[in-house]
Amino acid sequence: MRAHLRLPRRSFLGLLFLFSLSTSALYFIYSAPGIVNEYLFMVQARGIQIRENVRSIGAQVLEQVVRGAYSNGTDYSYDFDISEPYPQTTTYLPEGFTYLPNQRCPERLPSMKGRVDVNMSEIALEEVERSLLEGDPSLGTGGHWKPKDCIPRWKVAILVPFRNRHEHLPILLRHLVPILQRQRIQFGFYVIEQAGNEPFNRAMLFNVGFKEAMKDLDWDCMVFHDVDHILENDRNYYGCKDMPRHFAVKLNKYYYMLPYDEFFGGVSGLTVEQFQKINGFPNAFWGWGGEDDDLWNRVKFAGYEVSRPPADLGRYMSIPHHHRGEAQFLGRYTLLRQSKERQGLDGLNNLRYSPQVSRRQLYTNITVTLSRDLAPVAEYRPETSDSHLPLSGSTS
Ligand code: UDP
Ligand code: BGC
Ligand code: MN
Repeated sequence: MRAHLRLPRRSFLGLLFLFSLSTSALYFIYSAPGIVNEYLFMVQARGIQIRENVRSIGAQVLEQVVRGAYSNGTDYSYDFDISEPYPQTTTYLPEGFTYLPNQRCPERLPSMKGRVDVNMSEIALEEVERSLLEGDPSLGTGGHWKPKDCIPRWKVAILVPFRNRHEHLPILLRHLVPILQRQRIQFGFYVIEQAGNEPFNRAMLFNVGFKEAMKDLDWDCMVFHDVDHILENDRNYYGCKDMPRHFAVKLNKYYYMLPYDEFFGGVSGLTVEQFQKINGFPNAFWGWGGEDDDLWNRVKFAGYEVSRPPADLGRYMSIPHHHRGEAQFLGRYTLLRQSKERQGLDGLNNLRYSPQVSRRQLYTNITVTLSRDLAPVAEYRPETSDSHLPLSGSTS
């Protein structure tokens, strides 16, 4: 009798345990998408590496057998470092290279040396201001600068979406300002800071940043830059191209692999004309994920192809996060299915906001409280046809 009673209770407890385990796992996937994604890419990277190793071991074994030779006793090691060796080409300048004050600055310059020393240690903003100004006193308020020894090819506004990442910003500026100076690009920095309690909206911040930056100066190229992305190579030229550009191709936390072909996150750049043609970013992505995939769709629907820097120039290191990331935006799959219909309805054209603008030495701060009613979307009927692009986005 007793045994009868005990068994169901045990299995009930077991079920309860399994249930709480799976709900906590789901909750973790929902609330920490950045970490989950990183983990999935690690598994994927290791899988690829193991497959490559097995293939090369197979080829070597075959070679030994065919040659009839014996092994020399060397062990085959499993090398999990997916990062490729770093070629440092010395012949970088094009033929007939000229460089004169009355000519447009070239895209390749002797000052662009290649690999950059990355320093992730935390530093005060004031200290970065001091040392950058010491390096070049012509660096103006708002982080405005232009070359004097040639005519800048591009006027680039660097837009950084921001909330509560104060220790990241000085690290980014410390690396990026000198690189842009070496690239002889005219530039200014805009940090668009989200106030209020709504989930983070990276895309809407970029739209606000674009509109505000254009009031400031007649920029011709926009670079949309995550605050935690530090580039590793100063030959990754931050000017725009005749096609929208994806700069952050290889990220250390994704094992220096492009997560998927349609990936457009981290750092991207469009000319003002291209950005206006695609109606900017969507405003409806609240929380983590999907807004960069929607931008990719917009670019494709407008008939553009995305260009990327060659080989190893697009390498970045991500500043390790100290914060909990944003929760996943679960509505992104539905919105991404309707990218095409929404492109003309939601973006630069339906956005209202009231910014607070202030100038600092190294950037212009645009603080803005975001809410859903700032970007109302007109009624539309979602199409159900298959005429759309394949859905981008990976697992989580
Ligand atoms: N971001 C921010 N504060 C936040 C969330 C995001 O400043 O609370 C900005 C920041 O520029 C960051 C970018 O949005 O680099 C992308 O977010 P995150 O780095 O959290 O995404 P993940 O790298 O996890 O995909
Ligand atoms: C998300 C993107 C994100 C990418 C890489 C995708 O699933 O939709 O927004 O940039 O993963 O983390
Ligand atoms: Mn990040």
